[in-house]
Amino acid sequence: MNPAEMAPGDARPLSSGLYVVATPIGNLGDITLRALEVLRRVDRIACEDTRQTQKLLNRFGIATPAVSCHEHNERERAVELIEAMKAGARIALVSDAGTPGISDPGNWLVAQAVAAGVAVIPIPGANAALAALVASGLPAAEFHFVGFLPEKSGARRTRLEALLAEIKASGAPRTLVFYEAPHRILATLTDLEAVWGGGSRIVLARELTKVHEEFLRGTVAEVRKELAGREQVRGEFVVLVAAQLRAVSAAHPGENAAPTVAESIARLRAGTGADEKEALKALARERGVSKSELYRELQRERARSKARAKP
Ligand code: SAM
Repeated sequence: MNPAEMAPGDARPLSSGLYVVATPIGNLGDITLRALEVLRRVDRIACEDTRQTQKLLNRFGIATPAVSCHEHNERERAVELIEAMKAGARIALVSDAGTPGISDPGNWLVAQAVAAGVAVIPIPGANAALAALVASGLPAAEFHFVGFLPEKSGARRTRLEALLAEIKASGAPRTLVFYEAPHRILATLTDLEAVWGGGSRIVLARELTKVHEEFLRGTVAEVRKELAGREQVRGEFVVLVAAQLRAVSAAHPGENAAPTVAESIARLRAGTGADEKEALKALARERGVSKSELYRELQRERARSKARAKP
């Protein structure tokens, strides 16, 4: 049966091919009727984590066998799955949550299936980036999905600087969309503030579709302060930044620019009488980064100002 004709209760067998199936990002109600039909009727489900997918299958009484297909075995698994599909098998591909291939495994298998002439059928559904974007209130006509930024602060700032340069060059307003883990969110907001300026308009979408769903809106400085004031930072986050020219110009050194590490250390030392080591420790806590990362940033700042001072 042509998958586009599929309706609930239709008993005709599915056509062979790879079905890329989106699953919920938190709320189990966010699975489509078509997704359930496909998961029920395919021969096998290739999963990022079979235990995670099994919970979803149990919830909907689906008994289709599951096999693992994650970042460490995707390439070998692809060979076997493509052989099976060339021989007429129907395979569904799912990730732990949301749409496979979006900051999740799946791209390799899809590309190999396309190259082998196997039909690839998308079964669309939940995706954290789009859910956050449409409820953010930020411009959605043009957006740039970045995914996860680098884990280390230095590399993260370099990436943010490159994005800023791209926006300045194009001159077109758009919204940037990032994914971030709870243990890095404060550090990422600190870097955003340093590179883009504290006045940039952002939205944090937390725990989308779940009981504690929340949107924090404001300037990056306001949102970071709000989050830093919480006892614990929990949940999954999408970060959206309105990359408008106004925000970009705020990133030039000036009234909106975030203080440098050296400036913040001087402020803490003046206020508390702490020595540099103690001030560095307090600032690391305040910014949600490690002392060593902050120290490396301080060294970079010192090297930059030394280079600027050279005749
Ligand atoms: N493939 C998924 C999708 O389509 O959205 C994304 C998977 S990626 C490994 C996981 C990241 O997505 C999380 O770290 C978080 O940034 C974001 N995310 C996933 N679920 C979310 C939710 N319910 N609320 C907010 N962000 C979420």
